[in-house]
Amino acid sequence: MKDQGVLLSVSDLRVYFPGRKRGIMGKPLPIQVVNGVSFDVYQGETLGLVGESGCGKTTLGRALIRLGHPVVTGKIAFQGQEISGIGNREFRTLRKEMQMIFQDPFGSLNPRLTVGQMLGEVLLIHGIARGKVARKRIEELLDVVGLNREYFNRYPHEFSGGQRQRIGIARAIAVNPKFIICDEPVSALDVSIQSQIINLLKDLQRDLGLTYLFIAHDLSVVEYISDRVAVMYLGKIVEIADSTELYANPKHPYTRALLSAIPNPEPGGKKERILLNGDLPGPLHIPSGCSFHPRCPVAMAECRNREPKLQKYNSNNVHQVSCLLYE
Ligand code: SF4
Repeated sequence: MKDQGVLLSVSDLRVYFPGRKRGIMGKPLPIQVVNGVSFDVYQGETLGLVGESGCGKTTLGRALIRLGHPVVTGKIAFQGQEISGIGNREFRTLRKEMQMIFQDPFGSLNPRLTVGQMLGEVLLIHGIARGKVARKRIEELLDVVGLNREYFNRYPHEFSGGQRQRIGIARAIAVNPKFIICDEPVSALDVSIQSQIINLLKDLQRDLGLTYLFIAHDLSVVEYISDRVAVMYLGKIVEIADSTELYANPKHPYTRALLSAIPNPEPGGKKERILLNGDLPGPLHIPSGCSFHPRCPVAMAECRNREPKLQKYNSNNVHQVSCLLYE
């Protein structure tokens, strides 16, 4: 993957939301949801991002394309250009290259617009096509995502969940993006439909040369689609490696616990499940030292006070882990 060049580079990204509590000047105290995350996404790869709900993975994805209104610090470079400091107008032009597919296909589609109107609006806003040319392009898009051209005049409520997600995918690829953030794109769908959507995403990646950041909590899905996988815990990446390496040789105790929960597909095959203590703490109650220490089955005394750094586990720097066991 590294030979293919870096498409997106994220350095020390931090994302804050205003909290309910107020400080001495009456200003809301910020809540930090993403806490100093750095990673690269290589051209043409799928980087999976996994972790429990509330770990900050969706917030991270949304911050990359400036969705919502959090305070974001750190550096983001896209195709070698630093984009974190650019103005919103300049960013809008770039936004065409960076799209998002959402978890809830129904909620993300305008119920008052037909598929044709919705996709036509996207093509118009981005100055790609209008009129008959747009109609032709929309029909091509429907073909590409496996929907009947007859659906042009239908509304979102007339489709099944899987079909709606296909519309969401058509909307994302309509502007010829290079990079797509897939935010839990199949978690709201039936299992039988999930694999169809995942295979569609894989086909589109191959045919259109797309690069994905694939956010999910289902580790089996992530393993199937990802070239590399990053594991997030309480706003930080705690392990990142090639997908095969991470699933065969997980190093961080949290990754091991997550993987131990995947059912063994072999008949009669058994796996020892690693149970974690308690629930994921909220961003207002981040533990000291290694933030995983209250739940870690192999925590040591120093884990309470010393914060581990994400550093290479093997010599080629591909596998990185943040745990004092390896420092
Ligand atoms: Fe567990 Fe300590 Fe490693 Fe944190 S640093 S994951 S508490 S062993």
